[in-house]
Amino acid sequence: DFGLGSWPARRARISPDRTALVEHDRSLTYAALAARVERLAGALTRLGVRPGDRVAYLGVNAISVFETLFATARCGAIFVPLNYRLSGTEIRYMLDDSGASVLVHSPDTEALVADPLPESVRHVLRTDGAFETEIAEAGPSPETEVRLEDPCLLLYTSGTTGRPKAAVLTHGNLTWNTVNQLAHLDVLGTDKALCIAPLFHCVGLGQITLPTLFKGGSVEPVAKFDPGTILARIGEAGITSFSAVPTMLEMMCRHESWDRTDLSSLTCVLYGGSPVAERVARAWLDRGVQLLQGYGMTEASPGVSMATHEGTPAHPVAAGVPHFFTDVAALGPDLTPQPLGGTPAELLVRGPNVFGGYWNRQAESAASFVDGGWFRTGDVVRVDEDGWAHVVDRVKDMIISGGENVYPAEIEAVAARLDEVDACAVVGVPDERWGEVGAAFVVPRPGARLDAAAFRAHLEQHLARYKIPKHVQFTEALPRNATGKIRRVELRALAAETFS
Ligand code: AMP
Ligand code: MG
Repeated sequence: DFGLGSWPARRARISPDRTALVEHDRSLTYAALAARVERLAGALTRLGVRPGDRVAYLGVNAISVFETLFATARCGAIFVPLNYRLSGTEIRYMLDDSGASVLVHSPDTEALVADPLPESVRHVLRTDGAFETEIAEAGPSPETEVRLEDPCLLLYTSGTTGRPKAAVLTHGNLTWNTVNQLAHLDVLGTDKALCIAPLFHCVGLGQITLPTLFKGGSVEPVAKFDPGTILARIGEAGITSFSAVPTMLEMMCRHESWDRTDLSSLTCVLYGGSPVAERVARAWLDRGVQLLQGYGMTEASPGVSMATHEGTPAHPVAAGVPHFFTDVAALGPDLTPQPLGGTPAELLVRGPNVFGGYWNRQAESAASFVDGGWFRTGDVVRVDEDGWAHVVDRVKDMIISGGENVYPAEIEAVAARLDEVDACAVVGVPDERWGEVGAAFVVPRPGARLDAAAFRAHLEQHLARYKIPKHVQFTEALPRNATGKIRRVELRALAAETFS
């Protein structure tokens, strides 16, 4: 068994007494983690879980997420972490779609599982109840031979069209992503990483958490993100590293305790998932923090490219260079891979960290690959003279106005430079004359005075005329998903309703 389920036991052979996981007043060494994972795997087997079956998890970041992940993998079964911010209906859809036979959930998600669950779900284990009893009474551990090409994880992507679909990541995908991250990062066995980003998303799991556990460092899952608490914890616990989404970095550097927080223990802060405002990256870099942008997606487990410590000062908001075992290319006009250059093009990726397809979605899976194994990312990317990648925007978000391509992300980055602007999102809206025009939703900073004319004047200083949004609307907040991504489908509908 070379799968993820063997990691705790393998790590325990090397460093049994090092701390693997920390949560409030509780911690587990690698030896203790390996023992609990073995028992839980035995319990899952007793509950009928067999290789290829699905075990779902619903709850905030906690030690039990890792225990369930490793134990499920140990059984050769597939782990399905679910987003606890979704509605009960959405959760039931995902349980049904994945055909999960066991659901592990935390006490705070009780209301989400109150209504009848899909028939496939035969056992429900609450982490403060049956989950512990099962571990205590566990049967013998399973005898499974897990291969690297076997599926390990189903991660639901927030589909922008129709039903959410799950990317199937294999043990090999996750292992190679870990190798890629470690080729790029100086993760040490003495590291203390916070796991802030939610574990139902790949940034939470793949960027720093699995690499740290692989190296024998310790990981502290954080149940709920609160900027003040995290800042306090960094100084108090001597945290070395964490992985976040840009909105989290922004909330921290704007927090009242930012200036007096001791950040000297940090050796590596990673972020990714959406564009970062340059002033946010600068705020962290100016404090001497080694901040690194990663670019990737669920389908790539997730790392595609990453900044380097040496290169970041010269490219503070760029997405770095491709990972060690990951190749990138541009989608050519005849759907063939071409060298990626200075002209923005849809990015293709290939590598042992790239998934093989979506769960039960044959047609969509086939359509997401071209020319034997290149995954179509749906992102528009260019590289600069130094070979650093710049994520321009998503293909689907591009606005075509009077025949010109307009990238909302470019306008949003310019808008973010204005002190009076807290956040801004630009979406396309149908227009009789231009086919499509931009509509900007602007969240002013509290207390700031800003009107549409001043906002437009700022954009006009930095951008070509055809890129300036025709409509500007001030609003209190932008709709965002659990990882801070702007929910553009909602904004597009709102813009169409308001402006056309
Ligand atoms: P997900 O599938 O939820 O992991 O989201 C992946 C998508 O997030 C990518 O396809 C990009 O559109 C976006 N994304 C990820 N990393 C970055 C980054 N560093 N800068 C800009 N967008 C990013
Ligand atoms: Mg995606």
